[in-house]
Amino acid sequence: MDHFVVSARKYRPVTFDSVVGQSHITTTLKNAIRTNHLAQAFLFCGPRGVGKTTCARILAKTINCQNLGDDVEACGECESCVSFQNNASFNIHELDAASNNSVEDIRNLIDQVRYPPQTGKYKIYIIDEVHMLSQAAFNAFLKTLEEPPSYAIFILATTEKHKILPTILSRCQIFDFNRIQSKDIARHLADIAKKEGINAEHEALELIGQKADGGLRDALSMFDLNVTFSTNNHLTYAAVLENLHILDYDYYFKITDALTAGSIARSLVLFDEILRKGFDGHLFVIGLLEHFRNLLVCKDPATVTLLQVSESAERKYLEQSLMADLSFLLSALSITGQCDINYKSAKNQRLHVELCLMKLANLPQVLQLHSLAAVDETAKKKVEPQQSLNNAAPPSQAAPPQPAAPANGQSNGSAYANTPSQPVAAPQQATPQQSAPQQAAPSRLKSTVSLTQSLTPPAQQTTKQSNTEPSVDYAAVPNGAKREELTLANLQRFWYEFSQKRLQAGNSTTEQITLNREIQLNGTTIEIALDNDHQQDAVMNMRYELLGFLKARMDAPKLDINPRVAPQEVNRLPYTPAEKFNFLAEKNPYLLELKQALGLDVDF
Ligand SMILES: [Zn+2]
Repeated sequence: MDHFVVSARKYRPVTFDSVVGQSHITTTLKNAIRTNHLAQAFLFCGPRGVGKTTCARILAKTINCQNLGDDVEACGECESCVSFQNNASFNIHELDAASNNSVEDIRNLIDQVRYPPQTGKYKIYIIDEVHMLSQAAFNAFLKTLEEPPSYAIFILATTEKHKILPTILSRCQIFDFNRIQSKDIARHLADIAKKEGINAEHEALELIGQKADGGLRDALSMFDLNVTFSTNNHLTYAAVLENLHILDYDYYFKITDALTAGSIARSLVLFDEILRKGFDGHLFVIGLLEHFRNLLVCKDPATVTLLQVSESAERKYLEQSLMADLSFLLSALSITGQCDINYKSAKNQRLHVELCLMKLANLPQVLQLHSLAAVDETAKKKVEPQQSLNNAAPPSQAAPPQPAAPANGQSNGSAYANTPSQPVAAPQQATPQQSAPQQAAPSRLKSTVSLTQSLTPPAQQTTKQSNTEPSVDYAAVPNGAKREELTLANLQRFWYEFSQKRLQAGNSTTEQITLNREIQLNGTTIEIALDNDHQQDAVMNMRYELLGFLKARMDAPKLDINPRVAPQEVNRLPYTPAEKFNFLAEKNPYLLELKQALGLDVDF
């Protein structure tokens, strides 16, 4: 009967060169052997199934080999090598600290260390999962590790380096094993498939490589499993997907297409299909996150190398990343990340994911509105002065029907005849007296008026408008208008006016907060109390405009402003239950009512 040997054992590397994906370690070890600079204690760190124990065994075999080749590889034929290959060597001792972690176990090991090797040069002690040793065992071991006999070599292996005591770390030469890249795993699997006469699709092997997440041993057992399930020794991508229960990454591409197109419906239907295939909602969310991450990585040529996918998938990622813009991906990552974090605590997990998809599908629209608003905002800022002028007076003048309009136009025409020839003024002068058709007139007139007015000096402007609202030009002095007396009431009125103008101009929140503050008048100085330096800066920044505005309206040439930061009250956090209740009740008075209505009391 054909005896089945699992690939992980059958194809366990026996030379340094055949170790997959850890060349930085095998090269260093080979050099150390060649130059005879071998440390007596090694610490091999790294994820499970990446070749730590394998490397330890190869090292043990190599340094004991009786005819070591020039390439520093064990011959595999000498007595020592053969006994190693048959697991019969007395020069190698393995201890699995995960199950043998007591002081006794370590003492047994230390006892053996006292006897020199009968054959060969070195005795090698491999302690696997060394972080599992008990504190006492560690201490017992430390002495031996400090002064080992010259023939003893210790190789400690661990998946959790951070759990190793510093006293141990400092006595070992440390080697960090890599997670093996999925491309390397796939290549290795392809070699094995060839040797075993298995016809495997490249994509299928890459899928196994990805699923193994850097662990070759896991990859090999998955490979075995799939071979067992395969028919006619043929390994297909679809079959591997099915056997390993992996969600086809095509789904992520499809769903992202739906999301960037803003289709809530399509994304929900796809999600339903995924659930009906028996996939877990949370795994889907995690996969989606990774998908977005991959797309993001594709955005920059410098980071494309971070994409750990097969070549055909890489092409797809690059294509889709062109369709999804950066702000979409960043927001999508954040939304999906939140969904991932809150998934476990959600009562209705399906709805939780669906909500996330809805938000994502809505994203393109939101981002579009956002960018439109941003464009609008900058445009508004540019037009702002004209616009306010426009609001101040002209509409009322332009609004009355024909008789006033042409007259106004005419007077404007003559009044501004001396202003430099502007293109905007031209049409106006061209249509002076004529009683233009009523319908067309107002709008056209309005635009010309506002444009020309914006070009005129403010002085003329205000005289003309005398009784109407003051100009927004903060520093403008209303020449003819009588300045009002400096009183607190007047100050408050004009202060408010100023703050409204600033608000229209789209000022900052901080500025608006400071303008909403209570003000006091002390002689000719405006006193304003603020919370912090930030607000003080805001006041100082608009100081000139503010004072200019006020001085133009009130007879107060010496008017000044004194913004000061009021000393903060000591902000003690509520501590006792009663304090906590009062603190909350202050924020929400209904709490008091509730307390009374239900006859509740604070628990002391
Ligand atoms: Zn040999």
